[in-house]
Amino acid sequence: MNARSLWIRCLTTFLAFSCCHLFAQPAAKQIGKDLYAYISDNDASANSTFLVGDTGILVVDTGLNAIEGTKLLSAIRQISHLPVKYIVNTHYHPDHQGGNRTVRPDAVVISTDFTRDRTLAIAKAPNLEAFHFQPANLTFQHKITIYLSSYSVEIFFPGKAHTSGDALVYFPDQHVIAMGDLFLNRSCPAMDDGSAENWIHALDQVLQWPIESAVPGHFEVGTRADLQRFRDYLNDLYNQVTAMRQKGETLDQIRQNIHMEKYSDFRQYPKYEATFADNAASIYKQLGPSP
Ligand SMILES: [Zn+2]
Repeated sequence: MNARSLWIRCLTTFLAFSCCHLFAQPAAKQIGKDLYAYISDNDASANSTFLVGDTGILVVDTGLNAIEGTKLLSAIRQISHLPVKYIVNTHYHPDHQGGNRTVRPDAVVISTDFTRDRTLAIAKAPNLEAFHFQPANLTFQHKITIYLSSYSVEIFFPGKAHTSGDALVYFPDQHVIAMGDLFLNRSCPAMDDGSAENWIHALDQVLQWPIESAVPGHFEVGTRADLQRFRDYLNDLYNQVTAMRQKGETLDQIRQNIHMEKYSDFRQYPKYEATFADNAASIYKQLGPSP
């Protein structure tokens, strides 16, 4: 499956199984000193996080397209009229970066090298030409720290997880982290060409820090407990798939035999086959040839 079809699958998962907020207005919610979460009212468009400094603003992810970018910008303008200086893109999926040009065409755009490379590649895809991507002009391999007024913003690559080049954005002064699609609140994730095993390690690392709020790629802001629960979902699924595979069960058997009833409050549980079982299949494939 190529990157585009993976992303579309991710998109349709959100559209099909999330509750619709047809009449909700997008708004920014304060989650720390000078720090805000923008929870999109369109589940096919990613959430954003923004930090307001003394002379400019840093924004993490900009939504699906110009329409969503405009909605985000108007929510930002309800808080501040300072220029957006920095845009961080957590990964290359269009629903996280399609609004870059709308939010600020001459902002410094920051991402991993991988995200920039994939953005340049998908920008040439014939079906995606309606998107006017603004790829990063500042990239990093492991970590970069931005100092905005008295605040620091730590942007780092935790290893393969949702994709092969995600960035997490930690705001240590506010005890907040913007997780991109490494966290969806009460929700199964989409798995691109990443690593569930390393994803669990990344979540364990993040959970060692004094996090009070985590902004997910989609849906409502999570607490530390919500992040822990999402980590437990991935870990439970990973352990079940590896144990069954060790016993020689086939992929079809594994899809049937996983037990994830503990997570029946996840929004996709009614469509178990398309989500929980698909996540199990992704893990199975990541593990490589059967033992
Ligand atoms: Zn994604």
